[in-house]
Amino acid sequence: MNNALVEIKQVCAGYDHKTVLKDVSLTIYERDFLGIIGPNGGGKTTLLKVILGLLRPFSGEVVQHESLKQRIGYMPQTNSIDKRFPILVSEVVESGLIAEKGLSGQEKKALVKAMLVTMGIEQLASQPIGKLSGGQLQRTLLARAVINQPALLILDEPNSYVDKRFETNFYGLLQELNKATSIVLVSHDVGSIVSTVKNIACVDETLHYHAGTDIDEHWLEAHYDCPLDLIGHGAIPHRILKSHD
Ligand code: ADP
Repeated sequence: MNNALVEIKQVCAGYDHKTVLKDVSLTIYERDFLGIIGPNGGGKTTLLKVILGLLRPFSGEVVQHESLKQRIGYMPQTNSIDKRFPILVSEVVESGLIAEKGLSGQEKKALVKAMLVTMGIEQLASQPIGKLSGGQLQRTLLARAVINQPALLILDEPNSYVDKRFETNFYGLLQELNKATSIVLVSHDVGSIVSTVKNIACVDETLHYHAGTDIDEHWLEAHYDCPLDLIGHGAIPHRILKSHD
């Protein structure tokens, strides 16, 4: 059994007097690949804030274990980024090294260069983020999130803005990173994550943990058309809403 990195114990959390998460318990282990799915407004992002230590729960406990060593890489939703902000791709990626006090400027530049190559965006190094496509911005943010080799990588809705040509490559990159890094991938797009993750947690106020990916894509395909949206928990085992945009 791998070591626990983060333990969420019977957490209730929300904003002001509004409770968004009720009695949620979850343990994230080393080298886990956890998919968090659930309906819009179900509390996925709120759970991330709790995991990251950005939101103090009303009750319950959040334990970040020693093995985590504060090393968490976070990739926000791209629509939360102000693309008008005058910053270059290389500067965004380098900002992921902000806590690495022991590195010289030259060492940081070398790491940034190598990371840009890994992500296939080295030719964009001097571009302002305002000039990037959604997929290019996604790669830039992923590069920033993983450049300091985090023990835990958290991705919020990466497939909501994915560049389709990059999608397979993106999940391949995540599989590669998962050899050394525990990953939490939040999505309301069930279909595209079930083939990628190892375990699934469904969040809709409460949390239901599925060891393994027993909600598999074949089952989903047999019952529903894509895209799918999870709207809640029912008897068999989840109710899924068909919605086409
Ligand atoms: P999800 O990520 O699953 O879409 P969120 O965690 O973002 O859900 O939101 C859960 C609920 O909390 C929603 O009803 C949302 O409106 C509310 N909420 C989110 N952020 C805030 C906030 N900063 N202040 C007040 N309510 C919020």
